[in-house]
Amino acid sequence: MSGTSTAGGVAKGQRHQVVVVGSGFGGLFGTKALRRADVDVTMVAKTTHHLFQPLIYQVATGILAAGEVAPPTREVLASQKNATVLLGEVTDIDLERRVVTSQVLGRPTETSYDSLIVAAGASQSYFGNDQFAEFAPGMKSIDDALELRARIFGAFEMAELGASRGDDVDHLLTFVVVGAGPTGVEMAGQIAELAHRTLKKDFRYINTRTARVILLDAAPQVLPPFGHKLGAWTKRELEKHDVEVQLGAMVTDVDERGIEVKDKDGTLRRIDSVTKIWAAGVSASPLTRTLSEQTGAPLDRAGRIHVNPDLTLPGHPEVFVVGDMIALDNLPGVAQVAIQGGKYAAKEIKGRLAGKPAQKPFHYFDKGSIAIISRFSAVAMVGKLKLSGLLAWLMWLGVHLVYLTGFKNRVSALMKWAIAFVGRGRANRTSTEQQIFGRAALARLEHGAADLVSDPGVYDAALEERRKELEAIAAEEARLTDARERGVPAERRTVG
Ligand SMILES: Cc1cc2nc3c(=O)[nH]c(=O)nc-3n(C[C@H](O)[C@H](O)[C@H](O)COP(=O)(O)OP(=O)(O)OC[C@H]3O[C@@H](n4cnc5c(N)ncnc54)[C@H](O)[C@@H]3O)c2cc1C
Repeated sequence: MSGTSTAGGVAKGQRHQVVVVGSGFGGLFGTKALRRADVDVTMVAKTTHHLFQPLIYQVATGILAAGEVAPPTREVLASQKNATVLLGEVTDIDLERRVVTSQVLGRPTETSYDSLIVAAGASQSYFGNDQFAEFAPGMKSIDDALELRARIFGAFEMAELGASRGDDVDHLLTFVVVGAGPTGVEMAGQIAELAHRTLKKDFRYINTRTARVILLDAAPQVLPPFGHKLGAWTKRELEKHDVEVQLGAMVTDVDERGIEVKDKDGTLRRIDSVTKIWAAGVSASPLTRTLSEQTGAPLDRAGRIHVNPDLTLPGHPEVFVVGDMIALDNLPGVAQVAIQGGKYAAKEIKGRLAGKPAQKPFHYFDKGSIAIISRFSAVAMVGKLKLSGLLAWLMWLGVHLVYLTGFKNRVSALMKWAIAFVGRGRANRTSTEQQIFGRAALARLEHGAADLVSDPGVYDAALEERRKELEAIAAEEARLTDARERGVPAERRTVG
């Protein structure tokens, strides 16, 4: 293993250094809000893109391409001259030394800060049953979306193949979505549309319209945050689209070919299903643990860290934590909490540099929630206003067109929505075997992808060798110039 590299120390250093961890909603909006500030911003993120998570399910079901919901962060920030984007998974934050350590392929980099905004979000939680993940991928990343896409479309392919041989293929045509929150509802609705509408003419041995789509949740209602009335409306609407909604059903086991469920009355039953999707529960980035250990700030059950009302850590006014990582005033894990938090932190940093008094405590302004059920049907809640049906769907369309990152992504998403919702096509059905099994294969390597590249130490040693050679050449050139022996044949020179 080679030594640790330091980022940015030479060219920068004069101005106030802000480091932002994460390129999600909190990180991106925090960075953008520092555009005109007299600071250098270094964003360190473990992916090269900014992911618009609310539309991941459309990548998984073939409507949108990955790039339409995940533009390269450096392209988004290209015109922001004071911002630098560095790839790296942050593995440590040393609050005492004010240094962030990140890793790429086992190679560490240290980045120093004067102010820090931590916006590393959350990952899927399997409530202590992490072994479920192998058979029921979550919905948090582009890798998740592409794996799910390949699993969903692959299940129909395998069913066609099996049916052509006369095999029973019910388990291949049964799709189970766990978690009846907005993500689960949207996912179940889209798989149903895929099976019952999009794919119905494409196969010869199977009738995709007979596919079962099951949405299950341990809670007694669909979409709990939307209230009882909209929840009941959504359930009916899903059932109209042939989604089986099973409530009060707790998952007790998941394996390759099925899922085991315990009903409210204690009955244990099994659903044979190859394609399971986990849309239940999140757990904050593990970085909250290191921050908690160093500050004593407690964590809640979802691993979120309790922050001060101004989003800073106790005893560390220079460190802001925003978005899905924080536990503050029961704020929900939604994009607007992260966006507003990132902007608040940026404003505070600018204010301090300008000698302004501190802002009032962070206040979240709730702009409402929307969940789409199928084409032209959604539910929306804006303040006291509750909408369902086409009007809510049009609102969904408008909001997503405004918030989707980048003009070209908005235009191309609009075209893909026309193809999927007005027509019955899906522009992005391409999937490969590698998308299904690549991640599991990497997980079996001791150090993941780092095992597939040369040890950085070997590369560093070669570089060091070359550096010494170049230095020797430069020293000899300088000596020749000083001794006025440039152009003199080697045998007539004084030395060398
Ligand atoms: C499928 C799905 C659908 C959703 N739908 C909606 C919706 O309709 N409306 C809504 O308001 N909210 C929705 N949400 C929630 C919303 O997306 C999140 O609340 C929001 O993304 C939180 O922003 P964040 O900046 O805290 O984290 P994120 O947006 O998750 O960003 C975290 C960033 O940190 C990076 N990162 C993580 N760990 C590290 C590390 N160790 N080192 C470096 N970088 C790291 C990640 O790569 C990412 O760039 C949805 C979420 C999901 C998963």
